[in-house]
Amino acid sequence: MFTAFLIKYAEIGVKGKNRYLFEDALVQQIKYALKRCEGSFKVRKTQGRIYVDALGEFDFEETIDQLKTVFGISGICPVVYVEDQGFEALGKTIVNYMDQVYPDKNKSFKVNARRARKNYPLDTMELNREVGAVILEAFPEMTVDVHNPDIMLYLEIREKIYIYSEVIPGPGGMPVGTNGKAMLLLSGGIDSPVAGYMISKRGVKLDAVYFHAPPYTSERAKQKVVDLARLVSRYSGPIYLHIINFTDIQLAIYEKCPHDELTIIMRRYMMKIAQQIAEETECMGLITGESIGQVASQTMHSLYATNEVCSMPVYRPCIGLDKQESVEISEKINTYETSILPYEDCCTIFVAKHPVTKPNLEIIKRHEENLREVIDELMERALSTKETIIVREEK
Ligand code: ATP
Ligand code: MG
Repeated sequence: MFTAFLIKYAEIGVKGKNRYLFEDALVQQIKYALKRCEGSFKVRKTQGRIYVDALGEFDFEETIDQLKTVFGISGICPVVYVEDQGFEALGKTIVNYMDQVYPDKNKSFKVNARRARKNYPLDTMELNREVGAVILEAFPEMTVDVHNPDIMLYLEIREKIYIYSEVIPGPGGMPVGTNGKAMLLLSGGIDSPVAGYMISKRGVKLDAVYFHAPPYTSERAKQKVVDLARLVSRYSGPIYLHIINFTDIQLAIYEKCPHDELTIIMRRYMMKIAQQIAEETECMGLITGESIGQVASQTMHSLYATNEVCSMPVYRPCIGLDKQESVEISEKINTYETSILPYEDCCTIFVAKHPVTKPNLEIIKRHEENLREVIDELMERALSTKETIIVREEK
């Protein structure tokens, strides 16, 4: 019965000029998400509202699922709208609406009418009362409750008349494209896709970088990361995924530095390279999936040592999450099943049995001196292996 959706979005912080930028970005992101649905749609912005009209046949559930991936949407309201053919016709439509949407009539309701068109013959109070009466007459089991109704039935009198009562929660956040771009360090784990999702939710576009170490890491491990990027891109829009061959740097560190500091030194070089690519691609920050204390390389001391090579802001949205909380988000965004596939990761292959948990920055730097003669060339060579894949979620 529904042929349209009213899109609700939080309006806090989107006043004045920002408001229309926010709305335009939202319209664009909605259009992008709906390309993945059967059917065609019109997305329109009128009088401070955004509507999605289905043009012909469409799949209701699929459309809702896609709209749920659009950051900035706080609620999705399926709408019926009809031409104004007088109050009697409207009454019939509303009775039909209530009948279809609420098979169980043991419910209380309240009518909430609004007139955007003031020439309608009934005023708001009269509309509420008259429509309520029509519903009660058709369904005597129903009751009116103006304070805490089960069903809030909205009626909007515009050119046409809009009827809706259901609000399906959207993902919240801000539309992607309203807040710059950042570079996600994407591994095959659980946390980094979650971190990308969380930053993208604030309106930030994502690029990503993945470090692999062939032949120690396989093609399948790389494909897993591409798959994760694709799942995140359902929310974030297309992601430029840069893949860097990190093997020679890892081997050099392995050869020349103490093994218990290997992970930290490796992470420092990952951050340096990521930052360099970020600068070249106009990203304004780095994103990692780190969480304080989760592993040896994520203690406060380790983060201090890793962060020291970065001059850009590093966003770590998982920083305060317990593993279980990350897992819950990854399940919600559907990356969990892919993240737990058992393919090897370059961090785990070269990992020491007893990595330092309290690295000392001065000592780390001293040991990095062992790489002095080779590292510039190795970094340059690693950067020259960059392979870029544009990852997007298609139907
Ligand atoms: P994740 O679940 O995201 O893999 P993790 O708990 O396994 O995280 P680490 O392996 O210590 O943690 O990595 C910490 C962060 O460093 C990751 O969240 C990711 O942002 C980045 N990272 C680690 N390995 C790689 C890699 N091979 N390529 C790109 N980024 C990486
Ligand atoms: Mg990992």
